[in-house]
Amino acid sequence: MGRYAVIGYPISHTLSPLIHNANFEAKGTADHYSAIAVHPDQLTHIREIIRSNGLDGFNVTIPHKEKIMAHLDHVDRDAMKIGAVNTVAVDGDVLTGYNTDVTGYLDAFNQTFGKQHRRILIIGAGGAAKAVHRAHANNGDSVTIAARRMERFQFFKTADFKAVLISDIPGLDPHDVIINTTPVGMKHEDLLKEMEIPESLITENTLGVDLIYQPEKTKFLEYFAENNYMNGMPMLIHQAMDAYTLWTGEQGDIAAVNRKYKAHIGGKS
Ligand code: NAP
Repeated sequence: MGRYAVIGYPISHTLSPLIHNANFEAKGTADHYSAIAVHPDQLTHIREIIRSNGLDGFNVTIPHKEKIMAHLDHVDRDAMKIGAVNTVAVDGDVLTGYNTDVTGYLDAFNQTFGKQHRRILIIGAGGAAKAVHRAHANNGDSVTIAARRMERFQFFKTADFKAVLISDIPGLDPHDVIINTTPVGMKHEDLLKEMEIPESLITENTLGVDLIYQPEKTKFLEYFAENNYMNGMPMLIHQAMDAYTLWTGEQGDIAAVNRKYKAHIGGKS
C-alpha cells in the first residue's frame, strides 16, 4: 500500500486528499493520501516526517513550495526555473522535486483549447503566474505578464516574456488568451471593473482562463463566449494526476476524479 500526503500550513481546506483518494478508489488500490500540517519551523525535519508517516511521495503547498527545495537531493528543470516545487518523489533516501502545476496547467489548457501558437496575457505575477508562464513558454507562445507592482518580476527566473503593469493593459495590442492568476473573483468581484480593464479587450474569439475554481464561473469568465473559457478545476485535477504518474508510473482516472469533485462541490458555488 502506498502512502502519500500534502504538506502545508495551514492545511485544513485542501482538496488534494479528496482528489487523490477518489483516484485510488477508481484504480482499485489500497493507497492512501492524507493532509499533514507542517509548521514552517518543522520543515527542516522533513526527512523524519517522511519516515514517521511512511510516505512514498508528497505534495507541497503554501507556504513551503519554495523553501522545500533546500531539503531535496534533485530538482527537475521546470521546477528549478520557476523556483517552486509542488510534488516530491521519495525513492529510499533520495528526494526529487517537480512542479506539476506547470504540466497540469498545460495538459488542462491544451486538452480544452488545443495546442497552437497564441498571444497570451497573464494578469497577476505571483506563484501561480510563474507556473502558467512556464507552461505557455514551453508551449512556444508569446507571453505578456501584467503585475500591479514591477518588483514582482524579480522573482521570475527567466525573462522570456513581456512585463507590463496592470494599468498598462488598456494600451496593449489584442491577445488570444487572457488568464486571471490573481485571487480577484473569489468573492464574486468583477476583475475587469476592479482593474479598470476595458471590455473591448475581449472579442468573441478571445479565450479566457481563471485559475479560481470556486465559484465555478467567476464574473471574469462571464465576459467570454460559450466554450471559450476554462476555470481552475481542470488544472487542479491534472496537477494531482501528474503527481500520481510521477509517483507510480501510472495514469490517473481523471473522469472518476471529476465526478467525485463535482459531487463534492455541487451547490457550493
Ligand atoms: P500569490 O502568489 O499570492 O499571487 C497573487 C498575485 O495576484 C500577486 O501577483 C498579487 O499582486 C496579485 N493580486 C492580488 N490581488 C490583486 C488585486 N486586487 N489587483 C491586482 N493584483 C492582485 O497567489 P497564487 O498562489 O499565485 O494564487 C493565485 C490564485 O490562483 C488563487 O486564487 C489560487 O487559488 C489560484 N490557484 C489555482 C490553482 C489551480 O490548480 N486551479 C493553483 C494555484 C493557484 P501583488 O504581488 O502586488 O500582491
